[in-house]
Amino acid sequence: MLKELITNEQCKQLLALIDGSESIVCVCHVNPDGDALGSCLGWAEYLRTAHGKEAQIIVPDQYPDYLQWLPNSDKLIRYDKHKEGCDWTLQHADLIFCLDVDTCSRTDQMQTALESSPSKKVLIDHHLGPDIQTEITVSHPEASSTCELVFRLVWQLGAFEQLTKHFAVPVYCGMMTDTGGFTFNSCDPDIFFIISQLLTKHINKDKIYRNVYNNFSENRLRLMGYVMYQKLVVDAKHHASYFTLTRQDMKRFHFVKGDAEGLVNMPLQIKGHKLSISLREDTERDNIIWVSLRSVDQFPCNKMAEQFFNGGGHLNASGGRLNCNIGEATIIAEKAIAAFEDMLK
Ligand code: 5GP
Ligand code: MN
Repeated sequence: MLKELITNEQCKQLLALIDGSESIVCVCHVNPDGDALGSCLGWAEYLRTAHGKEAQIIVPDQYPDYLQWLPNSDKLIRYDKHKEGCDWTLQHADLIFCLDVDTCSRTDQMQTALESSPSKKVLIDHHLGPDIQTEITVSHPEASSTCELVFRLVWQLGAFEQLTKHFAVPVYCGMMTDTGGFTFNSCDPDIFFIISQLLTKHINKDKIYRNVYNNFSENRLRLMGYVMYQKLVVDAKHHASYFTLTRQDMKRFHFVKGDAEGLVNMPLQIKGHKLSISLREDTERDNIIWVSLRSVDQFPCNKMAEQFFNGGGHLNASGGRLNCNIGEATIIAEKAIAAFEDMLK
């Protein structure tokens, strides 16, 4: 049986919060990924089916093309496109669920609206050390994904049986994407129990895989070849590498959001490689570099992300951002590798 995530008291409190709320909102982190969207869509589906509540999902900005097939993704509201309306909704909501987000600053442009909202909040997340003021915090950094936590909560609340494919698809998708298709952070046997349950809702997991990983444009495939051939800087001595992706590169390959997804994992295919860093210019704003880090075994990406890239995350998958140009960013990446050289031998 699955371990319980919250106490019976908290279960009662959560149900009372939901039932006592008219206007409910779900939010997630900026640059939403499969887990961020999956947990919002899955939780909203639970609220709809089990409580008859229609939650609004507000995402800080654009979500990747390769996730547009998710059921109900057309109902997501983008904060960056509808700032005024979203500000009003956040200000007047009775209850806000913060899913796959640990701190308000990870919602980027939505930070102020979220921080200043007087509504009650519940956090469900698997990042380290959440700091959002809430009525209930369900924080489990050891979990594979927030979608796993959404499943466990729904299971504990006894609502899984009445849910359908519309719940199972996004939840499976988030668990899959946050574990690289169950290739890292996924050795807990419970994960496979959860998958076996999700499959009872007649989801096609092979199709979900193809929808996510074999759903790119020709341009994206060529971008991948270009980055690996021309842009990857390998530090063989330290079993580490970094690459940059500039706006010029993106223009050349007709970049759309999501095209950079997974590129950072590729250098880890080099035998013995321990660390891969991606440095990507923001598509519009100057002096913002989005950083992604991936590692294997015990190399702590999150420590490197905290110390050098204003970020954080998990042991083997972290991210952050720099406020500088791409040249300065490469120098910081080289410094970071040098500073961690003892762990990269
Ligand atoms: P990605 O490289 O896919 O953007 O992020 C990898 C992991 O690191 C994700 O779990 C993501 O939530 C986390 N992450 C990315 N950027 C940040 C950041 O700025 N701060 C923190 N705390 N975590 C981040
Ligand atoms: Mn996640």
